[in-house]
Order: sequence, then C-alpha cells, then structure tokens
Amino acid sequence: MVTITIDGREYPAEAGMSVLEVAKANDISIPTLCYHPSLRPSGACRLCAVEVPGRSTGRKITMLSCVLKVKEGMQINTRSEAVTRARTRAFRNLLQMAPQARRISDLAATYGIDPGPPPDGCIRCRLCIRVCKEIVGPEALKMEKRDSMDYVVPIEGRCIGCGTCANICPTDVIRVEDSENARTISIRSEIIGRHPLERCEGCGKLYATPKFLDHIHQRTSVHTDVKSHHHYCPTCAKLFSDRIKTVSDRGQK
Ligand code: SF4
Repeated sequence: MVTITIDGREYPAEAGMSVLEVAKANDISIPTLCYHPSLRPSGACRLCAVEVPGRSTGRKITMLSCVLKVKEGMQINTRSEAVTRARTRAFRNLLQMAPQARRISDLAATYGIDPGPPPDGCIRCRLCIRVCKEIVGPEALKMEKRDSMDYVVPIEGRCIGCGTCANICPTDVIRVEDSENARTISIRSEIIGRHPLERCEGCGKLYATPKFLDHIHQRTSVHTDVKSHHHYCPTCAKLFSDRIKTVSDRGQK
C-alpha cells in the first residue's frame, strides 16, 4: 500500500493503481470520456489531466491521471489553474471534432469549462498560409491565437486576389466571390482581400485583379514571350501563344 495526497487530503492506494482509479474509488470527480474500467487506459480524450510535481525538477506539470501510476507520497491537484487550462484545451479539441455531442458539452458545463466558439470549418492544415508565402509570395495570411484557439487570419493590405488559397483549401472554408467587377476573398466573416477585376483583352471576360497582374508582371518581366500575354485570360493566352502557333504551323506543313 502507498499513501498519496489528492487536493490536500491523504488517501491509501494499492501499488499499480492509477491516480484516476484512486480518485474514482474516493468519489473525487475527474472528467473522462475514453476511460473504461474493463479496458487498458489510452489517454486519448486528454480530459483527466491532473497536476503533479515533475520527477526531476519538482516543477508542477499536468499529466493524464488514467495512465499515471500512484507512488508513495505523490501530491496531486485536480483543481489548479493549470488543470483547468488543460481540461479546457481537451474539451475544445473534442468539441471541434464532435460539436453535435451533447455528452461532451454537458460534461464541459458540469466542470465549468467554456466550450469556446463553434467550429469554423478550418482544419488548421495551413496550406493556404504556406501557398501564399512559398508560391505566390505576398504572405497575406497567418495563424493568430484568439480565445486560446488558433485561427487563419488575413494580414491587412497584403492580398493580391489570386485565389490560390481558396483553390488549395481542402475544406472550402476560404471563398472567392466575383461579382459586379470585383473579387472578394474571405474566410469565415473576415475579408482577406477585395479587389477590382480587369477584363481580358481577348474575350472581354473579367478574369484577374490588377495587383495580381502587377505581381505576375514583376515575376516574369525577364521572359519577353510571357510579358506580351499579361492582359489575356488563361484561355486567350493559350490561344495567342507563340508556342501554339508554332505547333499549328508545323502541323500545316
Ligand atoms: S488570394 Fe490573397 S491570401 Fe489567398 S493566396 Fe492569393 S494573395 Fe494570398
């Protein structure tokens, strides 16, 4: 037998028991979803965090009580600020994955946890941020922490309206809307960029923003062939390209 302290009170425990098992045996309430007494613990839901002094430094750390084995003299806190932070994080992660699950939101309410904002449809893959930085170049998007959650947000004035972020987004949470000669790129209710649209000199179709055309011009000005196509939409640029002409000329011979 060992003696451990939970929230300032001593409890006897059998060696090999988990902290969660001791807590449950003594009616000390710790939230769990993935725990089942007949199964090996997995720590998957991460709700059962408790605070304990770290092994080497003695500095307090949070650990999952379902996989934490009791040790003689162990000091456990189930109600500290660090525990609330860890629980909040865990509840919010679960509610992002299963926002419809009443059992999770009810359990969060029982422990006084703010469930945070509803899911916004973004999976935080950061493809939009990476493509805007690494391929397009303007670096118009970034991650920002709001209310302890990470969000993709615009950096004001940087977007050139190319739409690449929306094309690469796997969940369609970034939208491109072309209407009344203007293009609006947005995520959630936030505008990433709003731009006028230019008409193609070949077919008259509205097809690109002036900032995007300037950007392409700067990037390709060393290639004289490409430079002459800057005000054609992709279809017309293809039709009018020297390469196509050359190929068709060859075909006529
Ligand atoms: S539309 Fe704007 S934010 Fe999206 S990739 Fe292009 S420049 Fe970046």
